[in-house]
Amino acid sequence: MEIYNHPTFHMACQQFDFVADHLEIPEFERPRLKYPKRAMAVSLPINCEDGSTRVYSGYRVQHHLTLGPSKGGLRFHPDVTMGEVAALAMWMSWKCALAGLPYGGAKGGIACDPHHMPLREVERLTRRFTQEMIPFIGPQVDIMAPDMGTNEQVMAWIMDSYSMHMGYSVPSIVTGKPIALGGSLGRREATGRGVAHLVQRAAETIGLNLHNATVAVQGYGNVGAIAAQTLAGFGARIIAVSDMSGGVVNLRGLDLEQLARHLAETRTICGFSGGDTVSNEDLLLLPCDVLLPAALERQITEKNAGEIRCRILAEGANGPTTPAADLILAQRDDVFILPDILCNAGGVVVSYFEWVQDLQSFFWSEAEVMQKLFQILDQAYDRVWQNARAEKISMRTAALCVGIQRVREAKAIRGLFP
Ligand code: GLU
Repeated sequence: MEIYNHPTFHMACQQFDFVADHLEIPEFERPRLKYPKRAMAVSLPINCEDGSTRVYSGYRVQHHLTLGPSKGGLRFHPDVTMGEVAALAMWMSWKCALAGLPYGGAKGGIACDPHHMPLREVERLTRRFTQEMIPFIGPQVDIMAPDMGTNEQVMAWIMDSYSMHMGYSVPSIVTGKPIALGGSLGRREATGRGVAHLVQRAAETIGLNLHNATVAVQGYGNVGAIAAQTLAGFGARIIAVSDMSGGVVNLRGLDLEQLARHLAETRTICGFSGGDTVSNEDLLLLPCDVLLPAALERQITEKNAGEIRCRILAEGANGPTTPAADLILAQRDDVFILPDILCNAGGVVVSYFEWVQDLQSFFWSEAEVMQKLFQILDQAYDRVWQNARAEKISMRTAALCVGIQRVREAKAIRGLFP
């Protein structure tokens, strides 16, 4: 499939093929499971604040529609391509299936740099993208959510544009909305808190005391920051954090409140006086108990996998570890991996709760949301851990096996139309 040609898509396919071999899925069944059902590419012309017109490229990939609507985030980043989005959509499928959600996977993106655009241009771009997507989305078709570079405000614009088209309010068209528009309590924090909860489970499994445990976080966005704050609440010491501009390290532990003030003022970690500077690459090599990549894909590769010095690798990002790195990590028995489709599933689980609440117009308390979230994550963790032990396979293979098998079973039972 030429249109998906991208290293991240090849990586997702490699993972799939590995698991398909393990599960002995016959060759003829594989393409139907592996390749996306639908992919859209759109040109998005917008009027810029300086009077010029600029055309952006937007993408949406719906990986499968077998179990219900497709579900997944919308990413604004300069490097977004169809292939990257397709890989992320495939991972959403396995993630939703692992958590037992009635969704297929999807992902979208616009190649743009929202941090260096006037807000009104970001708004126009979002609204134009929603307009172009109208034939392909809907609360029973495909539901978007925040991802890298997008937030609650972007979701509000999507909800407004779609609702204006329909002629009435449709909150269930997106999740991760502001609470005032039918968003769920706890959605913003869900991914990071889920990561921290699963780190706690992993720490119990390997006998690590989180009190005073050291944590390094690559990517201090919504996921990384909330996970770090929650882990600090469990008594852990956050020794390093980073963003696109680089990172800071302080082995005695960073003062997260001071860091939050610095970020509120400058919007970048760069220049924070509470630690020494460290590059994004070197942060990954710091000796620590928990290493939390929460930024882009393909950060842990065959080049650095032998050198990382953590006990738990908690994948807050999607696809941070390449298959080649996995092979190296499998040779070492000192790193316990919480694979992405398990580790960061908290976000889409609470997105599902938000969608259910919107469809019923009946809203839950934050305590109810969190209790149900941890219940689903615990079930998924137990299932993956048991599978990994019973079959003597890695946590990643075990997690992918559960997700892929569920989708495979649903496709087999539905059969082929016509
Ligand atoms: N973008 C998030 C993810 O990668 C959340 C998707 C959603 O909530 O639909 O899982």
